[in-house]
Amino acid sequence: MSATATRVLVLNSGSSSVKYQLLDMSDTESKSGSAAGRLAVGLVERIGEETSRLAHTPLATGGAKRETEGPIADHEAALKAVAAELTADGLGLDSPELAAIGHRVVHGGLKFTAPTVIDEAVLEEIERLVPVAPLHNPANITGIRTAQALRPDLPQVAVFDTAFHTTMPEYAARYAIDVETADAHRIRRYGFHGTSHAYVSRKTAELLGKAPEEVNVIVLHLGNGASASAVAGGRCVDTSMGLTPLEGLVMGTRSGDIDPAVTFHLKRVAGMDEDEVDVLLNKKSGLIGLCGDNDMREIRRRIDEGDERARLAFDIYIHRLKKYIGAYSAVLGKVDAVAFTAGVGENAAPVREAAIAGLEEMGMAVDAARNAVRSDEPRLISPDYARVAVAVVPTDEELEIAQQTYALVNA
Ligand code: ADP
Repeated sequence: MSATATRVLVLNSGSSSVKYQLLDMSDTESKSGSAAGRLAVGLVERIGEETSRLAHTPLATGGAKRETEGPIADHEAALKAVAAELTADGLGLDSPELAAIGHRVVHGGLKFTAPTVIDEAVLEEIERLVPVAPLHNPANITGIRTAQALRPDLPQVAVFDTAFHTTMPEYAARYAIDVETADAHRIRRYGFHGTSHAYVSRKTAELLGKAPEEVNVIVLHLGNGASASAVAGGRCVDTSMGLTPLEGLVMGTRSGDIDPAVTFHLKRVAGMDEDEVDVLLNKKSGLIGLCGDNDMREIRRRIDEGDERARLAFDIYIHRLKKYIGAYSAVLGKVDAVAFTAGVGENAAPVREAAIAGLEEMGMAVDAARNAVRSDEPRLISPDYARVAVAVVPTDEELEIAQQTYALVNA
């Protein structure tokens, strides 16, 4: 790697999309918020369809967002299109300033506890995990192989969504089912959104003026997917997602916790097969299943108009959230902070207010005026007298992936 190589390309490859950001790591500390070090950001959607779309914003040149529509056949074509956009801005992937490519990889199983430089053995292990992450890992692998073909000489780093959770004690990670069966099929709780939980718990400690080792934090990552984690002294000790991202909180389209017997019932009584149950619980449940909308803005608008179904969906969502705050308070023993993050957590003041309401005995409260402030900076929303800090801490998974990647290739 050349001494001047300070750029990292972050790739998040989904089954039909690629999100990317090019960051200059010499610039990520000097600016705060979303501007930190960003040279270009973009998204390719609907890969494999006639109406694929590429949206590219060259932040480095101050240029306007460029959008192109037209068929993009596969991930290779998508990455080539992205590379062409970057080249047009003088930020091409052939630049000696590019230090590494950091890939978000959803499932790292138990082996990958930290970011890892990708070689053939690492790729094989990610491939071996496809049965536990059938939707995500194949897309991640395709993204990695395509990027390797474009720049075979460049270090490629995998940053795993599961890695932060590998510190969970065995009694938190293991399901109470037959041990032999569980081990034979690698059935256990892995947890996801780990990059976000790691970043937000560290930023929360920073907001409190403490080192991560000194604080216990409950992180509530509330996006379309949602998960909670209990972080003790910088280490994850429990998280709400399990073998797959289906477990835990009520989400945009996922049920979260449910009696597993519901699935047998749906098969035996409703005549559904596995795939139908899978789609029901992952895509047609949660907020969308309860009220027909999964966008919290729309749900709040409907509640303001007196819509009862939207109200009930919101109440179910909040009730589950509260149960996890209670559970993780007990798991941690002492809580220094509760941090809200991701689309809903960062933007939906009524969700934060309702989730914390009634928890005064646990030292938790929300100050209405502080909660109403809109900002992309980390901030406290609890009153000064509260024993537990309640905070809004915007997540930045791309920055975290870039930092972990850059640190590893410079180690
Ligand atoms: P993901 O990365 O899981 O797709 P995000 O973290 O981007 O999701 O969160 C998306 C969700 O955030 C939306 O579905 C919506 O419910 C919520 N959201 C975004 N902006 C707002 C807002 N201003 N007010 C309330 N909710 C919002």
